[in-house]
Amino acid sequence: MVGVADVVAGRLLADDEPAFDPRPLLPGGVEVVRCAEYRYGARRATAWRRGRVLLAGDAAHTMPPFAGQGLGAGVRDAWALGALLARGDVDRYEPLRSPHARAMTRLSLFLGAVLETGSVPGAAARDVLLRKAFRAPVLGPWLTRGGPRSTASGVLDL
Ligand SMILES: Cc1cc2nc3c(=O)[nH]c(=O)nc-3n(C[C@H](O)[C@H](O)[C@H](O)COP(=O)(O)OP(=O)(O)OC[C@H]3O[C@@H](n4cnc5c(N)ncnc54)[C@H](O)[C@@H]3O)c2cc1C
Repeated sequence: MVGVADVVAGRLLADDEPAFDPRPLLPGGVEVVRCAEYRYGARRATAWRRGRVLLAGDAAHTMPPFAGQGLGAGVRDAWALGALLARGDVDRYEPLRSPHARAMTRLSLFLGAVLETGSVPGAAARDVLLRKAFRAPVLGPWLTRGGPRSTASGVLDL
């Protein structure tokens, strides 16, 4: 039951921008049981704390999905917040977590720009470069481990 509803594909195709039409790629007889439109953006709350109210996860920061770090960032927030609350040191929460959330947001935006390039030659060059990068001796294993995602998360150093 996985697929993209005709109604959604139709709406995408009705947009002014040239849209990707997934229907030819779907196996015949697919029954779509649910579909939802997903919009994303990069936003950040101006303050993560006001008095006894603390923000974590998407309430504090949203990011595009390209790095797969949205949920991970929220889990890291919760982990850090739990530890800091237990120590009575909650003022450290935003300074501790905010730089990492910003870095992941920047990474997501960068990956989105790379993945969603509208240029056919650009996409071809990207694919060649990425294949080479993943096969390179030091760079390849680092990228496979998560590349820039493996930088300090503001959690492990608690
Ligand atoms: C299509 C898609 C793909 C994604 N892929 C990834 C991925 O691969 N990797 C990754 O790490 N992240 C991914 N994310 C992001 C991830 O899902 C979110 O970052 C994460 O779910 C945020 O969790 P959260 O608890 O902060 O917020 P939410 O999951 O939004 O939870 C907030 C909850 O609060 C409830 N709520 C809202 N208002 C009220 C109210 N007034 N009273 C009571 N309850 C309320 C909502 O109903 C909701 O249940 C993806 C997101 C989408 C949409």
